[in-house]
Amino acid sequence: MIVYLYHFRNGRYGYERKGTFVRPRHYCGVTATSFAQRDKEHRSGRGAAFTREFSYRRGIAMKPVWKYECHSDDARRLERALKNRKSLSVFCPICNPQGNEKAFLRLLGKLNIDIPY
Ligand SMILES: [Zn+2]
Repeated sequence: MIVYLYHFRNGRYGYERKGTFVRPRHYCGVTATSFAQRDKEHRSGRGAAFTREFSYRRGIAMKPVWKYECHSDDARRLERALKNRKSLSVFCPICNPQGNEKAFLRLLGKLNIDIPY
């Protein structure tokens, strides 16, 4: 399976979370098919509610910043761990160009997911 991360361009749209206005910054997901196929779904409003709202409906530019292929069990745990975080900026090469790889490897280590190199 493929775990992937999108970075959203900063814009005026956002949503309310626990009484605070937040702008969409990142979205992570997982797909069993191909990323190209999943990307098409997200961009045509047939993916997740989050990407439908901010990319498809509101037109905020989103860019895939990485894809990571691993076994399905690991992919699910990785996606869960990422979604549980308040912010994904630390793993994003646009938001954290210096330390994103190191942060990601640290997370893989914490989850006991084999590093492929
Ligand atoms: Zn980012």
